Amino acid sequence: MSQPTPRSGATPYALTIRRILEHPVADDPGQEIVYRDLRRHTYADLRERVHRLADALTALGVKPGDTVGVMDHDSHRYLEAFFAVPMMGAVLHTINVRLSPEQILFSIEHAEDDVLLVHADFLPILEAIRGRIDVVKRFVVLSDDGARPPATVPFAGEYEALLAAAPARFDFPDVDEDARATTFYTTGTTGLPKGVSFTHRQLVLHTLSVATVLGSAHHASFRRGDVYMPITPMFHVHAWGLPYVATLLGVKQVYPGRYAPDALLALIQREGVTFSHCVPTILHMLLRASGAERADLTRWKVLVGGAALSRPLARLALERGVDVVTGYGMSETCPVLTVAFLDPEDLAADLDRQAELRTRTGRALPLVDLRVADEHLGEVARDGRSTGEIVVRAPWLTDGYVKDARATEKLWAGGVLHTGDVAWRDARGFVKITDRLKDVIKVGGEWLSSLELEDVVAAHPAVAEVAVIGRPDDKWGERPLALVVARPGAEARVTPRELHHHVHAYVQKGLLPKQVAVLEVKRVEAIDKTSVGKVNKRALREKHG
Ligand code: AMP
Repeated sequence: MSQPTPRSGATPYALTIRRILEHPVADDPGQEIVYRDLRRHTYADLRERVHRLADALTALGVKPGDTVGVMDHDSHRYLEAFFAVPMMGAVLHTINVRLSPEQILFSIEHAEDDVLLVHADFLPILEAIRGRIDVVKRFVVLSDDGARPPATVPFAGEYEALLAAAPARFDFPDVDEDARATTFYTTGTTGLPKGVSFTHRQLVLHTLSVATVLGSAHHASFRRGDVYMPITPMFHVHAWGLPYVATLLGVKQVYPGRYAPDALLALIQREGVTFSHCVPTILHMLLRASGAERADLTRWKVLVGGAALSRPLARLALERGVDVVTGYGMSETCPVLTVAFLDPEDLAADLDRQAELRTRTGRALPLVDLRVADEHLGEVARDGRSTGEIVVRAPWLTDGYVKDARATEKLWAGGVLHTGDVAWRDARGFVKITDRLKDVIKVGGEWLSSLELEDVVAAHPAVAEVAVIGRPDDKWGERPLALVVARPGAEARVTPRELHHHVHAYVQKGLLPKQVAVLEVKRVEAIDKTSVGKVNKRALREKHG
C-alpha cells in the first residue's frame, strides 16, 4: 500500500481575487486599459490604482467585512473596485443603477453598504433617496472630468483626488478564500430584488473554468492577443465575470462608459476590439444602428447570453462577419454555466445550420454538473426532445439569497440549484432552453415553447421584434399571443393572416407543433424590457394577458 506523501511544509495558498491581478501585471505591465476616449493607462497603473483605492477606502473607515457600494458606468474605476474592495477583505456591492430609486434604496439598506461610490450622472437618484439611507457613512463622487458636483450630498471626496492623495502601496491582508467578495441584487420583475453573493474561491474557480472553455474554443475564442470590451453592465453578475478573465489573461481592456450605439461601434473600430459579450437586445441595437453597415465587424467575436439569441439575429450577425455564440447562466450562478461553441466539423455548415447551432444554449462548462431533470430530479432522455428543468451543481453557485432563508430553500431544493429554465438536451450534450418555467404556455394540455415560436415569427421580414406569451382561454386552457413590433414602413404586413401563413409553413415542415394554429397576433409599438434589457414577460402578461 502506498503511503501518503509527507507534507513538505508548504503553506496553504488561498484562491483569492488578488491572485488574478498579480500574474498579468508581472507578465506584461505595459498592457493597456482604455476608458472611452477619455483615458488610457497600463496594467502597472491598474495595480497602483488598486493599491491607492484600498488606501483611500481605508482612510474612509472601510474595514474587512464592510460593504462598498458602486454606482458607475462600465469604467476603469469599476475594474479597480472589482479588485481593491475584495482584496481588502471587504464586500463589493455592484448596484443596478437601472432599478427604480426605491429598489436601489432597498438594495443599499439590505446589503448594509458602509461607503458608496457614485458617478455624478446618478446624483439625481441619490438625491431622491438620500434622506432615507441609514447605513451609508461616507459618499464618494466619481466624475469623468474631476469636477466636484454641487454640494447637495456631503461627499468625502472625488475619486481621482482621493486616489492622488493616497499612498501608492497598500498592505493587503490575507483573506480567507471562503470570505464573501461580491454581492448584488437580481432584477426581479416584481416585488423586491433578491440579493446573491459570491466568495473569492467561487469567483476564482469561475474565472478559471470560463477562461479554459473560451480559450480552447475552435471559434469565438477569447485568449491572449484579443482586445476585450464588455457590453453587459458591470453591475450585473460582474459583467458575467469576464473582466476577471480578461485581467487574468492580461489582454487589452476597453471600458465603454454609458452604452450608445455609435460610441460603441467607434470604440470597436478604433481600439480594435475583438471580444465582447452582450444580451441579444444590445446586439440587435448595434447591428441595426445607423452607420453599422459601414463598420468592419469581421474581427469581432461576441458571446451572447442573458436571453435566448434568435436565429434571425444570429444569421444577421454571421452575415456581417461577426463570430457569434450563445452562453447561458443566471445571477445565482456567477453566472456562466454553458457555452454553445461549435465543433470544427460544424463550422463548415451553411449559415442556416450554423445559426441553429450557435443559438443552442450550449454545453456545460468544466466542473459544472448540469442535469435536465424531471420532477423527481431524474435526468430526462438526451434525445433532443424530452424537456425538464435545468438543475445544476458547480463550485461557484451562490449559497443562497442574502437574508432570505425561504427563497434559499426553494432555490436549493433537493441539494441542486433550480434554474427555473425548461430545456432539452441532445446526444452531443447540447442543451436548448425552450422556456422559463413561469413562462411556459400550455395549449390543450401540451407545452408549447414560446422561444421557438418567437424564433419563427422573428424570421418574417416585416417583424422587428416579437414576444410570445400565454393568454387564458376557455377552450384551450391557454392560447399563445404574439406581440409584434413591425419594421419601420412594414406595419401593414404585420397582420394575423400574414403571420399565420408564415407560421403554417413551419408546421407543414414539421418544425412547429400543430397547436400554433391557435396563435393570436397583436401589433404593438414596443415590448417591455427589464432593467438589463430582457423581455419582461410578466409585465406583458399583466398588460395583454
Ligand atoms: P438573470 O439572473 O437576470 O441573469 O437571468 C437569468 C435567466 O436568463 C436564466 O434563468 C434564463 O431564463 C435566461 N437566460 C440566460 N441566458 C439565456 C440563454 N442563452 N438562452 C435563454 N435564456 C437565457
